[in-house]
Amino acid sequence: MTFTLNKAATAFAEAKRYIPGGVNSPVRSFRGVGGTPPFIARANGSHIFDIDGNEYIDYVGSWGPMILGHAHPEVTAELRVALERGTSYGAPTLLETELARLITEAIPSMDLVRFVNSGTEATMSVLRVARAYTKRNKIVKFAGCYHGHHDSLLVKAGSGATTLGVPDSPGVPEGIASNTITVDYNDAQELSKLFEQQGEEIAAVIIEPVPGNMGLVLPKPEYLDKVRAITEQYGALLIFDEVMSGFRVAYGGAQEVYNITPDLTCLGKVIGGGLPVGAYGGRRDIMELIAPAGPVYQAGTLSGNPLAMTAGLATLQLVTQAADFYEKITTKTAVLCAGIEAKAKEFGFGYQFHQAGSMFGLFFSEQPVYDYASAKRSDTTAFNIYFHAMLEQGIYFAPSQFEASFMSAAHTQEDINATIYASGNAFKKVA
Ligand code: PLP
Repeated sequence: MTFTLNKAATAFAEAKRYIPGGVNSPVRSFRGVGGTPPFIARANGSHIFDIDGNEYIDYVGSWGPMILGHAHPEVTAELRVALERGTSYGAPTLLETELARLITEAIPSMDLVRFVNSGTEATMSVLRVARAYTKRNKIVKFAGCYHGHHDSLLVKAGSGATTLGVPDSPGVPEGIASNTITVDYNDAQELSKLFEQQGEEIAAVIIEPVPGNMGLVLPKPEYLDKVRAITEQYGALLIFDEVMSGFRVAYGGAQEVYNITPDLTCLGKVIGGGLPVGAYGGRRDIMELIAPAGPVYQAGTLSGNPLAMTAGLATLQLVTQAADFYEKITTKTAVLCAGIEAKAKEFGFGYQFHQAGSMFGLFFSEQPVYDYASAKRSDTTAFNIYFHAMLEQGIYFAPSQFEASFMSAAHTQEDINATIYASGNAFKKVA
């Protein structure tokens, strides 16, 4: 069957009549890579199916949550049961305590957890409690790290903001942005200098320990230890934004892999099993400042929603059922990356391949990529050619050079072989 997106083109035009840009999150629009986004009709396991009848091997996984693959039968069965019990009560449930317990056991730095509805809400709320605890206002973030779309952190942000070329959005008041200081990722010296000058005013440093929003970038050896040491020295809090890396690079997130204890952690994606969830948590003495335990206000009509808690619980229970779940999915990811890399080498390209557990990324760059500036030096024209060539062959990667890709437990060796084979053809087009 020839690849067409005719129905999608009509659907996209219709969507634009009612929704800004036709989408509810900017990167979905294919603005970075050009062309029409497929409109998805359904998904199962490692595959998604669009309204034009095309089938794709999916490495987006709804931007990270679908670590078990789509429509996992056990998650779906649990959700059906939950659905019959009602969709939202706005009152406490046993499900919330159970998911909070699993999270605190998996991530020992989190004594207490508060559930919200998105990663954005988690990082927005965590800043408030960090500021209240330290009685300081300034926040430090890293260029190219994305923590959601609220005002304080939409400064030199990665992800869709970078893809669309608007890392500093209009509409963010200067007064708010001026309390956010941005430094380069992987540059401990710059951070250290900043703290020498302004350390007493800094409430917190928020970091994606393994950034996945400027493409996938890895921390240099000892870098995260240095960030921990500097923040501790000046009494600033260290916030790990593990919305993407939590329960993804390892069960205990990047903090388990790199053996760092942050003061506060943000979660999302995997802990909601594909339903809308975020969470923040950390040290008891800080988290007890949050209402109603303490005076820092934060609330939510749908927070701790029973369907979202059910999907999250089922997902975390399933990933812990097999002791080697993370080992297996990491190995599978390594096999895929090695296969694609071998194809790239056939064409003599010096691409940069990065992997962290079941996250992976490919930069179209001859030079090492270790921060926002080096990520941005990638050849986005080459990426776009590769991306479309893969899409036409039924491989669905994120439509931007500045996004990570995700393996799921549902991907098969056949999927991997097909992806490597398609990569060979795609590289031919790039060359
Ligand atoms: N933090 C990180 C590291 C993310 O990757 C994202 C989203 O991709 C967010 C925060 C925001 O999460 P959400 O899109 O659920 O608001």
